[in-house]
Order: sequence, then structure tokens, then C-alpha cells
Amino acid sequence: MERRAVSATDGVIYDFTPDLEAIHSVDADAALTIETLDSLEGAVQSEDDVVESIPEEVNAATGPIEVEAASPGDVLAVEIEEIRIVEDAGRVITIEGFGLLADDEDIEAPRSKMTPLEESGTAITFEGLEIPVDPVIGTIGVAPAEGSYDTLVPHDHGGNLDTTDVTAGNTIYFPVFQEGAMLAMGDCKIAMADGEMCGTGAEVATEIDVSLEVIEEPAFDLERPLIETPDAWKPIASAESMLEACKIANKDAVELLAAEHEFDATEAHMLSSLVGGLEISQVVDPLVTVRNAIPKDYLSDPFDLE
Ligand code: CA
Repeated sequence: MERRAVSATDGVIYDFTPDLEAIHSVDADAALTIETLDSLEGAVQSEDDVVESIPEEVNAATGPIEVEAASPGDVLAVEIEEIRIVEDAGRVITIEGFGLLADDEDIEAPRSKMTPLEESGTAITFEGLEIPVDPVIGTIGVAPAEGSYDTLVPHDHGGNLDTTDVTAGNTIYFPVFQEGAMLAMGDCKIAMADGEMCGTGAEVATEIDVSLEVIEEPAFDLERPLIETPDAWKPIASAESMLEACKIANKDAVELLAAEHEFDATEAHMLSSLVGGLEISQVVDPLVTVRNAIPKDYLSDPFDLE
């Protein structure tokens, strides 16, 4: 299949809104290479470049890409095939008032560190320590049902999910809220930990290979993003508190498990408590994000795809 190139110079967005205008229109089963800018758009090239406050426009997301035949009620599957690093270094930074330890007097902000890529391309270094390259897409989403979400905010449309499982080899499923879905992505990291505690990963520009599929009349009503890894299905939820996000991610898992095993909600809740696993995605964005990992041994395929 021909692979369509989508350049950041074609267009980026800083807000996911219901009425986005597409920069590209592609088939329902398209293969794409999407160029993304680093989240700070080149502002940090050395330790001397610090970011005093969160820029008004941050996490530029390349797009939106209209997926033909995607209509409200469908599901858009985005299979992430490869994330290529296109710079020779990433950067990790603190910003005043941002990050898990923003109130801690021992933490200096603003401050920046470069994380150069080793020649092998398989590791970066942080102050002499090697860290494996394991790229993550930080911001990825579709046009929301209603309301406007800037690219710093995660919610049911996706957005700034900052989730380590949004990586090559996995597929992320989005509810389609608007005609064409209007996919956009950016804010990639060379490496990032679950939690993204200081507020960033090793921020970097990339090229991302994805293939798309539209699932019409899905077997269940997907309300927010769902990740498929080789071993698990992971509902993702974002909310004002960690506890609330955990409740939503677990309720979604309970519904999937109930449908698969013809359990009532209580039985599915019990099974989730035995085999699921709450995982922290990020704790630093305006809403926190968690996921609930249900092994495929207990949940085969909620979309019932062959
Ligand atoms: Ca982010």
C-alpha cells in the first residue's frame, strides 16, 4: 500500500475542537508517515535554553487528518508501526509550577538537560547514564464530541495522554466523534517513564509510521481511548483525580469483561480485581491519566475482529 507523507509544515493544531479543518484526507485503510515537531518546537537546544513557563502553544500535533468513511459511532484504529527519531538529541526540562514536585524547594525550575543519542541509535545518555531508546507519542487524538481541549489536556478524545504504551507495536483505538475523525499527533519522546514525573520525557521530533482502520458498527460503544498491546487490552481514562481516573478505567474494563464472559457487573469487577492492573500514565498534565491492563488471556478482542 502506498504510504502517504504528512508534514508538520502542512499544518499543526494546538486545540482539539469539534470543527477541525483537515490538512489531508486519506482512505479508511491508509498507511501514513507523519512528521512531528518536538513539544517545545526547537526552543531548547542546550542547557542554557530554559523554559520559564508553559508556552501558550505547546505540544504541536501534526494534522488534522480526515479519515474518509469515519463517521460518529465508528472506531478509528491507529496501529503504530515505527517511531523514528529525527534529531541527534532529546531534551528533558523542568518548568516552574509544573511537574509532580513543583512545590518542592529542592527542585530547580526552570532547568534543561540535553539527552544526546548514541551513535548506535539505541540509547540516549543523561549525565553519562545510558537510557534505552523507547519512543512514545505524547499527544494523539481526534476531534472531540464537544468542547475545546488544548494539546496540553488529555480527555476522552485522546490528546496529551503521555502514555508509554502509545508506542510502536501497539494499536490505539479512538471513538469517532466527528465526520472524518480528524486525527492529529505530536509531542513525542525518545524515552519516558510511567508518570512523566518532572513534566517531560526526552522530548524530540520524529517521523511516525502508522496504519489506519475504521471499524464500522463496533461490537461495543467505545467512549474513550483503548490500547492494544501484544499481551493486553488497556482502557485509558483521564480525570481530575487519580482515584476518579482509576474508577473510569476500571468501569470500562468491567464492561469489557462482562460482555466477553457474560458476567454481571459484580462478577466482572471481581475478575478485574484478580487479573487487571492499574497503571499510571501521567500525573503532571491538567488531568491525570491511568490505564487498566487486562491480559488477553481474559479478554480476547472486544471489537470481535477476525
Ligand atoms: Ca505531553
